[in-house]
Amino acid sequence: MKKVVIIGGGIAGMTAGILLQKAGFQTEIYEKNAIAGGQCTGWKRDGYMIDNCIHWLTGTREGSALHELWKEIGALGDTVELYEKPSFFTARLNGETLTFWRDKERTRRELLALSPEDEKEINKLMDYVKLAETMTVPVEKPFDAMNPLDFIKLGMSMKEMGKLMKEYGKMDIRELALRFRHPLIRHAIVDYMPEGYQAYAFLVSYATVTGGNGDIPKGGSLEMAIRIAKKYQEQGGVLYTNTAVSKVLLDGKRAKGILLENGKSVDADYIVCACDTDYTFRALLPDSYMPKALRRLYEEREHYPVGSGFQVAYAVDGAFPELTGTQVFSCDKFRVGSRTVQRMSIQAYDYEPSFAPEGKMILQSNFTQSEADYTYWEALYADKEAYEQQKKETARKALERVETEFAFLKGKLRILDIWTPITYTRYCNSYKGAYMSFVTTKQAKSVTVPGTIKGLENVLLASQWLMGPGGLPTAAAMGKFAAWRIIKKG
Ligand SMILES: Cc1cc2nc3c(=O)[nH]c(=O)nc-3n(C[C@H](O)[C@H](O)[C@H](O)COP(=O)(O)OP(=O)(O)OC[C@H]3O[C@@H](n4cnc5c(N)ncnc54)[C@H](O)[C@@H]3O)c2cc1C
Repeated sequence: MKKVVIIGGGIAGMTAGILLQKAGFQTEIYEKNAIAGGQCTGWKRDGYMIDNCIHWLTGTREGSALHELWKEIGALGDTVELYEKPSFFTARLNGETLTFWRDKERTRRELLALSPEDEKEINKLMDYVKLAETMTVPVEKPFDAMNPLDFIKLGMSMKEMGKLMKEYGKMDIRELALRFRHPLIRHAIVDYMPEGYQAYAFLVSYATVTGGNGDIPKGGSLEMAIRIAKKYQEQGGVLYTNTAVSKVLLDGKRAKGILLENGKSVDADYIVCACDTDYTFRALLPDSYMPKALRRLYEEREHYPVGSGFQVAYAVDGAFPELTGTQVFSCDKFRVGSRTVQRMSIQAYDYEPSFAPEGKMILQSNFTQSEADYTYWEALYADKEAYEQQKKETARKALERVETEFAFLKGKLRILDIWTPITYTRYCNSYKGAYMSFVTTKQAKSVTVPGTIKGLENVLLASQWLMGPGGLPTAAAMGKFAAWRIIKKG
């Protein structure tokens, strides 16, 4: 029986592990943290659960290959209830509100009532959101292994997406916003996604909600990660937690195993590097092995930016039904990292009663952070006291602004936790604190990097970084593709 060692117990690594176990390989996952899941996680603070991943899980609607993959790895299944998101988010400005509802006709009506003069653009946007509902994530096999027939099938399934790309494929979210005259609509379109995202990403993301394909598994992110880890172990996989890998051991054109940080070495027939790709080629393998296509993305920083977050979790003394979903609002200017912010958000986790003690609730704010912001926090982190101080000061200002916007919360909020882009680097060795992959700007070509390494025949990559903009479906797909290549080789 051939042995596969997988470095990283995130969604990509666990997906590869489950599929390889099922195909008769003996696998071991080495994970540096105390629990598997990687970025798909959550943690307890003072009786509250801070859920830190799934805002929507693409693939919750039955009938797609991605849905089947989620079921196969235990993320979804008959016993997993789904929370049907009633809305994508709500934007607020000058006393007016606009919600992007699950019911897209309701959104259309709300938009038209708000701004009749934008009728043409509103109707176009909403018609194209309907087309975007047909979008599927191809997870059958790696793109470089697809034959002409596979491409024809893919092209047919993406027919409607072609129309959408024709209309919105050459603009970013800022340009999409400028198609509208009403200030609230303009704000709303840029409110939810980091700058640089292309316009179609807004439509596709919203369409996962309207199409019932982006719901949230009950129990949230951590429970989903635990279910997948359990599935892996049930298949006979061995998961080592608190076990960081320091190197892949090479022997000519092959890898013979891995070296753990504790000094032990482990032999293997195949190695899957299922962690951050920048870290892989900085720490685990010589940089010269980085695939050219991937190197280009790291070099062209302007065209392929990455983002992270400055995040605050607040315990709320009370439960307020009006605080459902995600709400974005204007606030007094303040600095978060190196940027000045005047719009901010709060997300309520009211859909999961177990996330807060009875009669209370938990809210979170997430401020988008760029690479420049990462540099700011990184420099500050050299002096831990100054870093902690700045975190607290920034979170205090955020809390004040939430209380200003939602006056009924005055005196009822308490900061539970604060985390920055540095947290992601510490926790998952993430490049610039990013928790999604590269943003493909409109000037750039879309990102897909094969998970093979030239010159190393038995080392594979499996990570969200291989396909922009990353996310859970990409991680699972890349895990599946690594397994597919190994199974094919035998
Ligand atoms: C706040 C937030 C919100 C998000 N929202 C969504 C969402 O709504 N929908 C969505 O689809 N996605 C979302 N994501 C993104 C999603 O979490 C990631 O895309 C996905 O989890 C990445 O999986 P991965 O396996 O590629 O990488 P990772 O999760 O980074 O896994 C890599 C693993 O490798 C481990 N590792 C690193 N170095 C070593 C080493 N030397 N030795 C051993 N182990 C090592 C890490 O600890 C980690 O567990 C969100 C993420 C965050 C943080």
